[in-house]
Formats: sequence, structure tokens, C-alpha cells
Amino acid sequence: MIVDQIGEIAHGVHMLGHPAVPVFLVEGDRPALFDAGLAFLGPVYARQIQRILGDRHPAWCFLTHSHFDHCGAVAYLKDRFPQMKIVASKRAADVFERPNAISLISDLNQFAAGMAVDLGVDPGDTNFEPFRVDVTAGEGDCFEISPDLTVKAMETPGHTRDFLSYTIPQCKLLVSSEALGTPDETGYIVTDCLVDYDIHYQSMERLNTLDVETLCLGHIYACTGSDARHHMTESLLQSRRFYKMAVQFLTEENGYIPAVMKRIKSFEWDGKHGLRQPEPAYVLNLEARVNTVLRKWQASREPDQPTIYAKTAT
Ligand SMILES: [Zn+2]
Repeated sequence: MIVDQIGEIAHGVHMLGHPAVPVFLVEGDRPALFDAGLAFLGPVYARQIQRILGDRHPAWCFLTHSHFDHCGAVAYLKDRFPQMKIVASKRAADVFERPNAISLISDLNQFAAGMAVDLGVDPGDTNFEPFRVDVTAGEGDCFEISPDLTVKAMETPGHTRDFLSYTIPQCKLLVSSEALGTPDETGYIVTDCLVDYDIHYQSMERLNTLDVETLCLGHIYACTGSDARHHMTESLLQSRRFYKMAVQFLTEENGYIPAVMKRIKSFEWDGKHGLRQPEPAYVLNLEARVNTVLRKWQASREPDQPTIYAKTAT
């Protein structure tokens, strides 16, 4: 099933906030949050957490990566739930210590508050605040929710270098966020290979070896059962399609990246209905995605193929 509404998506697993920027809560003796969305949604997440947990607090907040729309409300939630331990990769923890990264995350959260009306949420006055990671995690590290529920971290870089996916093997749950392809509201899957095409693809292949019943994605919807497995395999297929298409466009446009971006943006973003990533963020990411394809294609080029050099706008 594709779940695009806030609520319980599987037994004891809740999608909170707004499907466009969700956080996930798994109930147990030591309840766990996954990601912390946007700053202005902090009060919404907190209200929904309290409705589910009553007087109890989340024990963990597991962060997948250091992008602004996944860590925005950490400080707000930590203030509300002081015993909650913030978990992230060492690389992400380092990012959160860098003043320039913090100011970018803060600016982007402020910009994103303009989306509040579209999401039907009162923007309020909750701003992003810096925070510290309490526990750093790496490949295979485990954290207990209940004696019969354990969160296991998996290093799945490619969207960012600092990316961790999390599994709870006992209930076949995977929080992949953007380590897998990210759907838009039309069901098109965006290949989010921002730092390296092959590394991103290999991470998706690893995730595809897992037995998954409940899949928590970064944006728009979560899925269960056969739709979860379909999304995982489709992310691989779509990634290969994206690569082939971007190489074709690069060839046809003689490596002129703005022209390639324009062609991809025309069907991925322009004129699309429903919720979209803010245009500046989309364009920045698209440039990174095209460049990862170009680097892979240049590296795997046969000797008799002409070299294509990236040309950017002057
Ligand atoms: Zn991201």
C-alpha cells in the first residue's frame, strides 16, 4: 500500500508532520523518532508525538543525513524531550559543528517556512537552532527500542556522504529516506545521486537485499507490502534510466550542462502539479546529479568514444 496520509502506517509505526516532510515514530519501551524534518513543523511533530506517547518521551532521534529538511526541528524536539538522544553518523555530526553549514541549514529552513501555507500549517515562529549529536553511529551499530525491537544502522552514502539508513529487522522496517529514489506526487521517482552515481547505486543495491515490509521514504509517501518492494526495485531501474537519459542529453548538447539541466527540468519540475521541492534547491541538486553522471560516463568511456567536457554557463 502507498501511504500518503499522516497516521499509523504499520503496527506501532507512525508517519508524523506532513507527508511532504515526514518524520517517523516507532513505539516501544524506548520509542524512536527517525529524522526531524523542517524547523517550522517542530510544534506539529511534538503535538503528534505527545498524542501517541502521552507522558512518555521518545528515547532516540535517528538522523539519516545532514540536509536541512531532515534535521530542521532537532533542537526544538530536544528542548521538548530532553532525555531524547540524537543519533547520526560521525560525518553528519561533524557537519552540524561547522558554522557555515549551520548558517546554510538555518537559511534554508527560513526559506522553507514559506511552504507552510501550501502544507496547510501555521508557520509559527520556530526557527532552526544548532544542536549537538549525542551518539555517533556507523555500519552495524544497534540500538534497542524494546527487547524484541532493535534499530540497526547501515551506511548508505551516495545522496550525501554522511548517510545512514536504519532497519528494524524484527518488523521488516526500513528507513531509507533519500538513500532510495524519492517520489514526487505523480509517482515519478527522482534519482538523487548527489555525490556519486555508482556509490548511490551500490547503496540502493544493498538496501534491495533486505526483506522489507514497511518502507519509510524521505518525502511524499511511505509504502508497505508489495508497494515497498516495488519502490525499491523501481529505484534501481529509474536510476539506470536517468543515467542513460542524462548521457544521451550530454552527448546531444556537447556537454553543455545548463542545456541538459533545462531538458531534464522540463519534465521533472516545470509544470508539475502538487508539492515540489523549492526551485533553487531542485536546480542545485539537478546540477549535482548531472555532474555525477558526467563523471561516471567520462570514467567508463571507450577509447574510440569522443570525450565530452562539461561546459557551464559563462
Ligand atoms: Zn537529502
